[in-house]
Amino acid sequence: MDRLERLCAEKGLRMTEQRRVIARVLSSSDDHPDAEELHRRANDVDSSISLATVYRTVKLFEESGIIERHEFRDGRARFEEMPKEHHDHLIDVRNGDVVEFHSEEIEKLQVEIAEKLGYKLVDHRLELYGVPLKKD
Ligand SMILES: [Zn+2]
Repeated sequence: MDRLERLCAEKGLRMTEQRRVIARVLSSSDDHPDAEELHRRANDVDSSISLATVYRTVKLFEESGIIERHEFRDGRARFEEMPKEHHDHLIDVRNGDVVEFHSEEIEKLQVEIAEKLGYKLVDHRLELYGVPLKKD
């Protein structure tokens, strides 16, 4: 059983074979796929999985708090397994590639800013948008 399947079990989600396939595909993806890309990958395993099933399943997983949904300004929702450790994202605006990063400095700074404003920070989202410095 992979991590996402285990999380589903812990949340008490009834696992159909199709849900299992979609969970596995998500677990083995590290590139933040959208629903259509998930559908393509799931179909390589089980061609009976419809796009509608993928949409329903990611919605269920999202509501159960086991995957994260991102909107990186290109109008399509993208998904990833709930990360074990927090990270932020840099999005390549040319092709939508997503680079994950973690910065202790930024994390600390955000806590400080929230505190200065009279808040305890409980969550944040940070997205950087860029183009490569080097031309290829
Ligand atoms: Zn990520």
